[in-house]
Amino acid sequence: MPIYEYRCNKCDHKFEMFQSIGASNESLNCPNCNEPKPDRIFSVFGSASGGDSAFSGGGCSPSSPFS
Ligand SMILES: [Zn+2]
Repeated sequence: MPIYEYRCNKCDHKFEMFQSIGASNESLNCPNCNEPKPDRIFSVFGSASGGDSAFSGGGCSPSSPFS
């Protein structure tokens, strides 16, 4: 399950939420000031695990179906 990071657009408080894929911010409130619908910040998955050696080297290149 991905971790989504949000930032309150009222008090600028940042917080993280575990949410299922496709979940929206519609039902979220800032834990600091209770402002609804914080802005989602797209961050890396599993940022708390440390050690990103498996993904170093840039794996973003698409494998071409044409060859
Ligand atoms: Zn807030």
